[in-house]
Amino acid sequence: MTEAVKPPKKPRGKASLLEDKCIACGARCQSVCPVDAIQMNDAGEPIIDASRCIGCVKCVKVCPVQALQMSFTPEELRILEELAGSASSAAEVPEEDAEEAALRKRLAVYRGVWVFIEQTEGEPAKVSWELLGKGKELALARDCPLAAVVMGDDVEKLAHQAIGYGAGQVYLMDAPVLRHYRTEAYQRGVCALVAKYRPEVILMGATGLGRDLAGVVATKLATGLTADCTGLSIDDKGNLLQTRPAFGGNIMATIVCDKFRPQMSTVRPHVMPMPAFDPAATGAIFSEAVPVTEEEIHVKVLQILMDGGGADVDIAGADFIISGGRGMMGKENFAMLQELAEVLGGVVGASRSAVDAGWMPPDRQVGQTGKTVRPKVYIACGISGAIQHLVGMQDSDVVIAINRDPEAPIFQVANYGIVGDLFRVIPALTGKLKALKAARSGASKAS
Ligand SMILES: Cc1cc2nc3c(=O)[nH]c(=O)nc-3n(C[C@H](O)[C@H](O)[C@H](O)COP(=O)(O)OP(=O)(O)OC[C@H]3O[C@@H](n4cnc5c(N)ncnc54)[C@H](O)[C@@H]3O)c2cc1C
Repeated sequence: MTEAVKPPKKPRGKASLLEDKCIACGARCQSVCPVDAIQMNDAGEPIIDASRCIGCVKCVKVCPVQALQMSFTPEELRILEELAGSASSAAEVPEEDAEEAALRKRLAVYRGVWVFIEQTEGEPAKVSWELLGKGKELALARDCPLAAVVMGDDVEKLAHQAIGYGAGQVYLMDAPVLRHYRTEAYQRGVCALVAKYRPEVILMGATGLGRDLAGVVATKLATGLTADCTGLSIDDKGNLLQTRPAFGGNIMATIVCDKFRPQMSTVRPHVMPMPAFDPAATGAIFSEAVPVTEEEIHVKVLQILMDGGGADVDIAGADFIISGGRGMMGKENFAMLQELAEVLGGVVGASRSAVDAGWMPPDRQVGQTGKTVRPKVYIACGISGAIQHLVGMQDSDVVIAINRDPEAPIFQVANYGIVGDLFRVIPALTGKLKALKAARSGASKAS
């Protein structure tokens, strides 16, 4: 009788510290070690007792800057290679499993969620902070660091702001060549950072700048990009589930980029909620070399002309929006909405039908091909609630719908619905609000 030969046990390795990488973040590695194998020195860096380490990898996973790694002795490496060889040569291992394993190994190199912090003349785009809020959720789900990428000239203050909005690390490229956004310069900066740190996810705002940069970076990195996402989550394999309207907005599609990294998405302003700012938050700022010189960039910015083209109202940033649709029946009737907006301190928006009819300018359009809004109160007047309109306003805090058709889909997303003729309801509402306001100011004067 021959005894079965047991295969050698897979070595687990020992944790070790990479030189000059530790940022003394506060002993996170020490606190997760289950066998007390880590002590901190006076500089706040870990000293690992290899004789105690059991190779559980917990400290490696928790390190926000990948300063810890698993090390193997030559003998252990030989066993690992042997095991890998026997696994791939074993006839019973299906080919797909080997392919899947190779893919997983390739993707595992990428770690961390990044948010690109957009700025113009040093002013941050609010969407970047919104994305840090979502990025934090994704990073927690992946148990990985959340980092911000800040690029510009004299923009260190944005790095500190990014930390306040949740970034644990900031990669800062600060140089005059990055003062104005130019595709080539920014693309080279982002790609250099990706080559150095290999993040698994990169989020950018779906603004003019973000759309341009995300597209060129994804092309250079030969990876996937999903534009205008309205929902983001992550599965247990680390695949980003990127949800966005598709086929003219008639369905919501969830897209994954499961074979390439980093996974890239753009998200429009106001789609994600704004996270709270914590002035006491701490994080690490890494000053990165700028991989491009002015001479290498062929595009020069000669003058910046601010848009004075009549876009005097920013509906995307308004707290109260009163929108009108085809049910308004004509341009002149929007005066009624303007009056209500003035009483509430809000602005007037529109459905695409109203814009196409020339009743309102295009910058007031709410929806898939217009703006995404997230006001405190959204009042939809004579708007049916087509999916292309809903994707632009359904995350408003409170939705009030006025429509004479009780079956109108807008009522499905409304917190309060008024079934009736808007030409009677709106003047009554405005009159009531005016009376309330007058009574309040009278009462405060009297007291
Ligand atoms: C690719 C694509 C992108 C699009 N992007 C957008 C977009 O960004 N934004 C957008 O809005 N649409 C967009 N659309 C168009 C969208 O599909 C709808 O056609 C549009 O939203 C309908 O506008 P509406 O609700 O004003 O008009 P309608 O659908 O005609 O609805 C009018 C409503 O007014 C009500 N009504 C009429 N008279 C009164 C009255 N006196 N009192 C009370 N209620 C009354 C009616 O009951 C009806 O419900 C897009 C379409 C496509 C294909």
